[in-house]
This record gives sequence, C-alpha cells and structure tokens, in this order.
Amino acid sequence: YMPVVIFLAAITVGIIIMVVISVVQNKPLYQKYKYGIVLDAGSSHTSVFIYEWPAEKENNTGMVQQKHTCNVKGKGISSYSANPQGAGASLQECMNEAKQKIPAHRHPETPVYLGATVLDSVALSLKSYPFSYQGARIISGQEEGAFGWITVNYLSENLRKPTGTLGALDLGGASTQITFVPQQKIESSDNSIDFRLYGNNYHLYTHSFLCYGKDQALKLSMGKKLESTLKTDPIELRDPCFHPGYKVPRTVPDVFNTPCTKELKLANENFLHVGLGNWSQCQQSIRKVFNTSICSYSKCSFNGVFQPSVYGDFGAFSAFFFVMDFLNLTSDSLATTKEKLAAYCSTPWEKIVGNHPKIDQKYLSEYCFSATYILTLLEDGYKFTSNNWKDIRFIKKIGDSDAGWTLGYMLNLTNMIPAEAPDMPLMPYG
Ligand code: AMP
Repeated sequence: YMPVVIFLAAITVGIIIMVVISVVQNKPLYQKYKYGIVLDAGSSHTSVFIYEWPAEKENNTGMVQQKHTCNVKGKGISSYSANPQGAGASLQECMNEAKQKIPAHRHPETPVYLGATVLDSVALSLKSYPFSYQGARIISGQEEGAFGWITVNYLSENLRKPTGTLGALDLGGASTQITFVPQQKIESSDNSIDFRLYGNNYHLYTHSFLCYGKDQALKLSMGKKLESTLKTDPIELRDPCFHPGYKVPRTVPDVFNTPCTKELKLANENFLHVGLGNWSQCQQSIRKVFNTSICSYSKCSFNGVFQPSVYGDFGAFSAFFFVMDFLNLTSDSLATTKEKLAAYCSTPWEKIVGNHPKIDQKYLSEYCFSATYILTLLEDGYKFTSNNWKDIRFIKKIGDSDAGWTLGYMLNLTNMIPAEAPDMPLMPYG
C-alpha cells in the first residue's frame, strides 16, 4: 500500500499548495499608490480633492489623477467668520470620506493642503485627522492662474512634448484669471512667471482680476446701475440682464456688502429688482465695469492691465464651463452664441422656471447675466474675436481630473514635476 499512500499524500499536498497559491493570487495585489489631498476654499464653496499616483512613477507627466472629489455642504469658508468652529466642523463629512478612500497605511504620509484665506479653527480641525497637515497658505491670484495652467497642461500631457501649450481661463465667484504663453514680450514684470518643467522653459503671461469673478462682477454691475437709477427712481432697478417677469425685493446693502463695491449712501434701502430681458442693453451695462480708456503699455486688456494678444488654444473652466454648458453654448460660433443668448435672456422668467423646476433659482436667475458677462469679458476684456473664438474650449475635466488650480498646486508643492526631463521614457499609467 505504501506507493498508494505516498501518491495520495502527494496529491493532497499538491491540492493544498494550489489552494494557497490561488488564495494568494486572488487577493487584490498590494497597490503601490500614493495620495494627496487639496482643499479648495473658494469664495462660494469648499471642495476637497483626492489625488492618486503610482508610487514609483511620481515624476512622469499624466501620472497623478483625481481619485475622488467631495463638495463641502454649505457656503464658502468666509461665511463662517462669526462662527469659526463651524468652518472646521463643516469639513467633517468630506474628510471622513477621504479616510475611507485612502488606504489606512498611507494616511500618515498623505499630505493635506488647504488653499484659502484661512481661519485658525479650520487648520486645527484638519490637524485632528490622521493625514500629514502641511499648513495653509493664501493662494495669490498669480499662483491661481499659474497652477491652473500647470494643471491643464500636465493633464493634456503637453509638458513633455514639443507641441504647444494650452492657455488657462478660470472664472470663480470673486476673481478671474488668464494665463498663456504669449508670442510678444511681457511688458510688465507683475504679469510674468517662469517655469522650467521637464527640461523646457516656459515664460508665461498671467493676470488675476480680483472682483471680476462672476458673483462680484454682478455686484459691480448692479452697483453701477443702482448709482445711476436710484437717484431718480428709488423704488425700482430695471435690469436688462434679468428675465422679463423677474421681480425680487432687495436692499441696497445686498449689493454693497463686499470690498468690491464701495458703500453707497442711499436714502431708500429697499428696491425692487425688475428684469427686462434685453441682451444688448445688458451687454452695454456690463461694458461699464471694464475701463478700457487707460493703458500705459503697448496694449491692455482693461483697467490699465498689460496683456499681449491672446495666442493659441485655451481651456476655459470653473464657472466659464458651468454657465456655458448649462446654456448649451460650448461649441457655437461667437455670432450664434450671441443670437442664442439674446433669445434666452428675453425668455420670460416664468417659462425659465417651468423649464428647470429643479435648478436653484438663484443660479437660474443669473445665467443670462453670467453668460453675457463671460462673452463681454472674453471679447471686450481679453480681446478674443469671432476668428479665434473656436480656440476656446469650455472644459470641466481632462480625463477624470477637474481642470482648476488644485492639481497644479499639489504637483508643485510635492515637487512632482521635475525641472529636468527624467531619463526614463514616459510610461503608460497603471
Ligand atoms: P468659487 O467659489 O470662487 O470657486 O467660484 C465658483 C463660481 O461658480 C461661483 O460663482 C459659483 O456660484 C459658480 N457655480 C458653481 N456651480 C455652478 C453651477 N452649477 N451653475 C452656475 N454657477 C455655478
């Protein structure tokens, strides 16, 4: 019987070995990914972005990808000025999500960056999570523009190729940025920023217009209208940028409550905001917030700010995308865009609400203004024309990652874009 026993024992051992191997193989492979967290505390909201990259390929372009994004409920961090603890607490849901999404063994080395006008309590609250808190910094407008540019060019893998780069147009609630590689000399040093990335030098033009984000621009524009009309008609503000039939009671401090709009002393604090729905009059009124009569350089965008001629293709993201995408205006010629927008603005408010019962009425009421503002900023401000309008691509994401400053900011702070080209050839992701 001995040979049979040995034979059966060998089979049993063989089966055990095969089971062990298959269990081991079926176990998810130990993935060597690393992670980074960036909080974008904007004027109107806060978002938490989680990025991921293969641990061994940190320096290759296109390797860092957005893994997850979480929108913090409620308004922007600055709305908590009277209740600072509330700002930190508001992040809890999103930071707990980050704990779920990032494997626990990576927590201690995962950097967290907060870009904001920060409140101490927010920093304190972030320190209570297991990640490696890297401190908070106020992002300057120039950095916002430059990091947005890095993000879109990193994601489009333009940085290691001889092909051109993509200009970046960002529209927030409080400010707006334009960043691109110009063909002409940059005449003001404030507007120039240099990078050496993957062995190539980039000489960028960038400018950030504070108060020209879409929420503050609306206040600027309404403020100008109020100044000229309330003196004669203290009860109504007849506004061509809002739909016919739109009527909302407001107070003067509603409009003049930010550093962008200086205090106006008006006897009557209440007025009725009445929509007229007239696109061309709306554009006329918006033009008044751009001062194009002063320029001490060879050319300017507006408010005396130097700007070389726009050059190359541009990615327009954040609110540029939200607004133009909502109105289905992301792929028409400039002339068609204007025609469609004129028709939209003149549509009665009641009909607009009926067509979009689920959309927040504040956003809904402002799309006519916002889109008219976007066209005016791009055409009269930045000097895009009907010829190069097609070079503007309204984008939300490139691949799975959002276009915006956060990815570029983290790449920069983690030194993940080397100045010199790595020796290794570009490896595919994953
Ligand atoms: P910020 O908070 O400074 O990043 O600005 C974002 C801007 O985009 C604000 O003006 C928001 O009101 C606006 N925004 C965000 N989501 C939408 C949306 N779905 N439609 C229109 N505007 C939006």
